[in-house]
Amino acid sequence: MNAPRLNNPRVLLLSKSGPRRAPYNRLQEAGYDVLVEANETHALQRISHDTVDALIYEIHDCRHQALPFLEQLQQLESDPCVILVGPRQGAEHAASLLRAGAFDYLTLPLRPGQLEDSLRQGLKIRRSLIEVRKLSGKLRKVNGDLARERDSLQQWNQNLLLVNQLGQELAGTLHADEIVNLLGTRFAQMLAFKLLGVMWLQPEKVWVHAPGMGKGHRLEQTRQAFLARGRGLHSAMRPCDQDVIPGHEPPNDVDTDGRVAVIELPLMAAKRLVGLIRVECAPGAPFEPSQVELVKTIATSLALALRNAEVHNYVQNLAITDGLTNLLNRRAFSNIFTREFREAERYCTPLCLVMADIDHFKKVNDKFGHMVGDRLLTELAGVITRSARAVDVITRYGGEEFALILPRTDLPQASIMANRIRVAVERHPFEINGSTIRLTISLGIARIPHPHIVTADEAVASSDAALYRAKSRGRNRVEVDQDGVGAGSDAQLSLPASAAPTQSGIKC
Ligand code: GH3
Ligand code: MG
Ligand code: MG
Repeated sequence: MNAPRLNNPRVLLLSKSGPRRAPYNRLQEAGYDVLVEANETHALQRISHDTVDALIYEIHDCRHQALPFLEQLQQLESDPCVILVGPRQGAEHAASLLRAGAFDYLTLPLRPGQLEDSLRQGLKIRRSLIEVRKLSGKLRKVNGDLARERDSLQQWNQNLLLVNQLGQELAGTLHADEIVNLLGTRFAQMLAFKLLGVMWLQPEKVWVHAPGMGKGHRLEQTRQAFLARGRGLHSAMRPCDQDVIPGHEPPNDVDTDGRVAVIELPLMAAKRLVGLIRVECAPGAPFEPSQVELVKTIATSLALALRNAEVHNYVQNLAITDGLTNLLNRRAFSNIFTREFREAERYCTPLCLVMADIDHFKKVNDKFGHMVGDRLLTELAGVITRSARAVDVITRYGGEEFALILPRTDLPQASIMANRIRVAVERHPFEINGSTIRLTISLGIARIPHPHIVTADEAVASSDAALYRAKSRGRNRVEVDQDGVGAGSDAQLSLPASAAPTQSGIKC
């Protein structure tokens, strides 16, 4: 007998007659490893656990259970080439056996070599089938890869469009709140996230959008923590080397596939730190490297937009701020007072305007010089600011005159306010070269509503007239233009000075 050759096809013989009898006794010689099983159950077990390339199934009569056996065989992953050997069958029955997966039906008695021929052909076709199956498996995989590639390209394309759109939208606004709102809307269209936070350094402001967090304590804690990170980052920056951020360790822990759960990036524009952006992934969906790149691109547009908003705010503030005292200037006064005047008219709420002027300030300049005068003017602006309420609007009306807008304030309240300021100035020690001087101010109040005041300009004229009266009645006092513009001489003193006014207004 030939020794079994390596890689010989393995043939399982399901036959009661055994491998030594014709037509099976030549199989081993023909180069097949022959295994034998005597019944269907054992044959199925063998096929499911062992490598079997071909199955020769001997059928003994027409009522044989070949058909259910073939059906069971098809359920198995293994797919041997099945050759049936048996008595002559009706054509219909033989066809049904072939349809059930058999490769050939050989009718006994067989001519010499017929079984080997059929086996050779069947195994050849089986090999081809296995090859085709492998190829189609590969094809399926390539198709799957291509489909995924196509989907991610589509997503990338869509995201590029959205980034482009966002860039245009951001360029169209100079308001930080609007910028962050736009960002949040577009972000939600591009990425699934648990938290989106933006920190702006100037002015210091934090927006946190965390849909699942509600608005309670946790959100506030998150805001504070983010604010602290932004501040830390800012203080770690060296002014001479602003694009280097020592000490900032973004929590971008990368997993083995290059994915991150948190993206935190400094917002840089023209080598300046503008703020910080932080995005936390939705549970179980870390950001892919391409998504990190997307956030980087967005961060660049966001940084520029916030920087523009910053510059815009700065220029706007510059236009309405007095350079010496840092108070609002006359332009701001006009805008705010006009708006408050309209509001007071519309909602029938009281409004008072107080005009204040330093007494005999020219003498201060003459005595100590203009520079000292400037410093005192600034210091006095601080005294007024500290004496006023948060709702009051304090402006430098011009020269050494201040206009105070007191919204929702009636005359008695305004008189108390004005007198408080007057006393605060009077009591404040102004230091010049180691010695102390005292200044006083005179104040005039216009109240709205007033029967003779119809326009904002008339209110200004009215407070001016009251101020003039305070000056003419001795200075360091508060007066009210009781009868409005042009009423002139009947105006009364609302509150006398608590301290006796000096002629000069300056006590050195
Ligand atoms: P009074 O108001 O009591 O009638 O006398 P006054 O000397 O203060 O006169 P007035 O209100 O007309 O003040 C004008 C002076 O205020 C002229 C100028 O010397 C001074 N002054 C106005 N603006 C400035 C300023 O920006 N800096 C300085 N140092 N002085 C100013
Ligand atoms: Mg004056
Ligand atoms: Mg003046």
